[in-house]
Amino acid sequence: MNIILLGAPGSGKGSTSEQLISRKGMTQLSTGDLFRKNIAEKTALGLEAQKFMNAGKYVPDEITNGMVEDYLQTNHDNLVFDGFPRTRAQAEALDKMLEKLGTKIDKVIYLHVDEEVLFDRLTGRLICPKCKRSYHKITRKPQVEWICDFDGAELVTRPDDAPDKIATRIDEYNNLTATLINFYQAHGKLVILDVNGLSVEAIYFDIEEVLN
Ligand code: ADP
Repeated sequence: MNIILLGAPGSGKGSTSEQLISRKGMTQLSTGDLFRKNIAEKTALGLEAQKFMNAGKYVPDEITNGMVEDYLQTNHDNLVFDGFPRTRAQAEALDKMLEKLGTKIDKVIYLHVDEEVLFDRLTGRLICPKCKRSYHKITRKPQVEWICDFDGAELVTRPDDAPDKIATRIDEYNNLTATLINFYQAHGKLVILDVNGLSVEAIYFDIEEVLN
């Protein structure tokens, strides 16, 4: 089974993916993580993507779709798509890629969070560079300040979590991604979850119910 997590930056797609990995053995395909890996390895794709990401803008569809198509050649089952697709062109390209591979998207779970909450979450976010888990300076502190509870790595803030970049990212989401809610509703695949105020565990149990 393949699912898409749809939602604004800061809606909890990454934390929800973690739950689906550890409790259900799914595999996360996060285009943001793939881009950051390419940036760290200084690949041509990474250098190109970095220009857009640093500005809080979406990476162009051709680059993003190409990267996903490569990934899917070796792995296309039991996936959680986190942060892809984000545009209508990406959604249409994904359907074609999966069809060629004899598979499909089964469910799209839209995580709805109020916009004012998103901003607070992103400005306070701390990330483990090693395992990608996220924390929050106030609401989800690690046991030891700036240290990951799971692997002891020093936590970092993401350059695109600066307030001006967050505003651009939320605009990009509203202008280009929100339309996918209707797209997947029309395809009969959409499940809307209002996750305001829910813990990551509570979100997971809601999703489990939907998937069963
Ligand atoms: P968030 O969901 O909080 O924005 P991500 O790690 O998923 O964080 O994405 C970080 C950045 O990577 C995005 O702001 C964008 O620049 C780029 N990116 C990730 N996924 C895509 C995508 N599907 N299409 C275009 N750009 C993307």
